[in-house]
Parts: sequence; structure tokens; C-alpha cells
Amino acid sequence: MRVSTLSIGSELICGEVTDTNAGRIAELLLGCGLRVLRHMVVGDSEPDIGEALNELALKSDAVIVTGGLGPTVDDVTALAAAHATGRRLVVNEELKEHIRSFTAKLGGGHASDRQAMIPTKSTIIPNPTGTACGFHFIHGGCFFFFLPGVPSEMEPMLSDTVLPFLCERVMHKKVILSSFQNVYGLSEPEVDGLLKGAFSGNHAVQMSICVTFPWIRVTLRADGDTETAARTRLQDAVELVRERLGAAIFSEGHETMEQVVAGLFGRRGLTLALAESCTGGLIAKRLTDVPGSSAFFLEGAVTYSNAAKQRLLGVPQEVLDTRGAVSSECAVAMATGMRAAAESAVGLAVTGIAGPDGGTADKPVGTVFISLATPDGCWTKGFRFGGNREDVRTLTAWTALDWVRRYLADGSPFPV
Ligand code: ATP
Ligand code: MG
Repeated sequence: MRVSTLSIGSELICGEVTDTNAGRIAELLLGCGLRVLRHMVVGDSEPDIGEALNELALKSDAVIVTGGLGPTVDDVTALAAAHATGRRLVVNEELKEHIRSFTAKLGGGHASDRQAMIPTKSTIIPNPTGTACGFHFIHGGCFFFFLPGVPSEMEPMLSDTVLPFLCERVMHKKVILSSFQNVYGLSEPEVDGLLKGAFSGNHAVQMSICVTFPWIRVTLRADGDTETAARTRLQDAVELVRERLGAAIFSEGHETMEQVVAGLFGRRGLTLALAESCTGGLIAKRLTDVPGSSAFFLEGAVTYSNAAKQRLLGVPQEVLDTRGAVSSECAVAMATGMRAAAESAVGLAVTGIAGPDGGTADKPVGTVFISLATPDGCWTKGFRFGGNREDVRTLTAWTALDWVRRYLADGSPFPV
């Protein structure tokens, strides 16, 4: 079954509000084994809505429309739907009653009959949480569903009424299962190159690569006639992607980098102390976002000034004078100094130039040193990150966390 969505709202096409309905509908349809063919967005304009409905109907078996069912003059979806399909707009008594009782429940006020007007030969889609009910009709062999734009009202109506209706009518039912593999440390072309041809000729698996700065998500979707068939295909696909991308995959699903790191510390029974300069506490913030992080995270110091680096971490004056605060030597002294002061198993330090000022010819903006002091030795490396101040800080925090992850999982922060 080919399903399309139409989001209606002038605020959506001018960028004032992001259209979240289309994506959410697609996500929920996938759960029923249905893929969306296309999404369309139009403003609150009757001719545009009519044109969109006719165009989508040509290529779709079902069109799910959201928005423009409200009581105000700019809500013209019902009128446009009626005109586009040769129907009349009539007051629906059942709907009128629903609006009256809903308005009364909210403490009275004026109940608008405007919202009780729907195209003839339509069925009401109940709305348990708002005044604007939806409606449904069949036209030209295509199922049309009209739902309110408010996401919290749209979603239950879709799940309770639209999805069961469509699921019942799908001829060749498919099960579609998804897996997300989250990657850090490889560029988009690198991921693309490593995965090239992995699923060519395999029509049961779809793969997409999506950059979600600064990490990359590889989505795998496998379908099958049964749950078992889809699951087996998905597992094979995940294995193939894991083989090709190796330890660059830091997590699966919605697990964050810091959750992975926290889990590894828990399993290894080790502790961590941080010395941060250019990230200003960002790494500590992210780690302490994870509930239970007190089990491994002992302390973090934001040592921004040279004086703080000396006083709190024992960075030698000579290192600061001869190498500077942004240097490999300073990063080592920060990590080892923090580890000793906190008596932690692992000491992690970052120092760099986030910009926009402060760069020099040999240390331009984006120059960052990361050092990881552990019971197995100390690793230190310089990076040159691109982007603005926020990008440099984000990349520094991510790379530092990724180092810890790789060390805890494989014994070294570098790819082995
Ligand atoms: P309804 O049919 O429920 O009256 P409407 O479009 O007529 O919806 P609006 O007042 O335009 O009502 O929108 C209600 C709220 O829902 C607004 O905050 C609007 O930004 C939001 N909204 C509408 N459509 C979408 C969408 N596709 N994605 C996300 N939010 C949306
Ligand atoms: Mg609207």
C-alpha cells in the first residue's frame, strides 16, 4: 500500500514551525509494515490544498492529512477537501454535539459550529483530547484521512483509528524492522566507502547514512513476510555493517556516547577524573547527565587559566613557558596531575583553542590536545578541528569521550 502525507499550515512552509507530524506518521506506519511514499507540505490556502490532494491521490492508496481543522478563518482544510472531491460541506450533528460537550467540559465558552462542518459522505475520526475531530472518506479509490495539526491530538487519533483501518486493508502484509548503528570518528565519505555495495541486489534491506553532527547514524531496515524472516535479515545486515565499520560503531539504537562510557566504567569498575580547559566542563556535564555516574566519576576541574593548571594539576611552569597551555606536554601534565590529585584510575584532560580569537600560525583555532592517563599508560594526541567555537568544543568533548570508550573496550584509544 502506497501512503502519502500532507501537512497543512502556513507556519510550516515559512519555517516558523517544524513539520514533525510527517516524520512521526512515517515512523508509526513503519511499525505496521507500511512505508511512506512521499510527504508534502502546503500553506492554509484552499486551491493549494485541493491541488495537493488531487496530486497525491494519483500515486497513493492512502493520504494522511494533518492541520487546518481549527475554528479560525484560516483553517480551510475541510472546505478544500470538499471542493476537491466534489462534496458539499455540511454540519455534522454528532460532531456538533462533541464540540459542545468538549467546550462545556472546559468551562463553557462559545462553541464554534464551523468545526462541525465536514464534507458529505465522510466518517468522523474521534478526537478524545480536543475539539477538532478528524474525518475520513474514500475518493477515486484512495483513502483520505484528515487529522488535526496539533501533534498531541494527531498521534492518538492516528494510532486508534487510522492505523488499525489501514493495517486491516493491507493485502500483502510485511513486517519492517529497523536498527540504528551510531558511528563516531569516521567521515561521511569514509562510512559510505566502507559500506559501498554491502546491500546491492538485496531488496529486502534498506540502508541510509545520516550525519547528525558530529556523529553518523546508519539506519538499516529489513522487511519480511514474517517477524522471524525480517529479524533474521536485519541481524545479518547489522553483522555485515559491524564487520565493515568495527569499533567506529559506538552504540546501537538511541544509546548516547556518554551512556556507553558510563556503562563501560561500571563494568570495568574503574574511576575517572577530568581536567578540562577549552570545553569548560562540557565533558563533565555530559557524563553527569547519565544517572548513576557518581559510581565512577570522582571529580572534574575546569582549569581555564595557567594559574589554575599549575595550582590544581601541578602543571610545571616550564611547560607553560616553553610549550604553552595548548600543547601535548601540558595535556599530559594535566591528565597525570588530575589522576594523581583525584586518585582515580583514569585521568582525562583536554586543552585547546576554541576560537574565534587566540589562534596563531602554528596553533590555529581548532588546535586541541587530548591526553588520557591510565594504569596501562598515557596516550596523547593533537587535533585540528574545523568549524566555529561551538563545533570545536563539541568535537573535543566527543573525541575525548570516544577515547575513553575505546580504551575501556579495547585497551587503547586509537583504532586497533
Ligand atoms: P487543528 O486542525 O488541530 O486545529 P490547525 O492547523 O488548525 O490544527 P493550528 O493552530 O494551525 O491548528 O496548529 C495548532 C498547533 O499545532 C500549532 O502549534 C502548530 O504549530 C502545530 N502544528 C500544526 N501542524 C503541525 C505539524 N505538521 N507539525 C508540528 N506541529 C504542527
Ligand atoms: Mg493551521
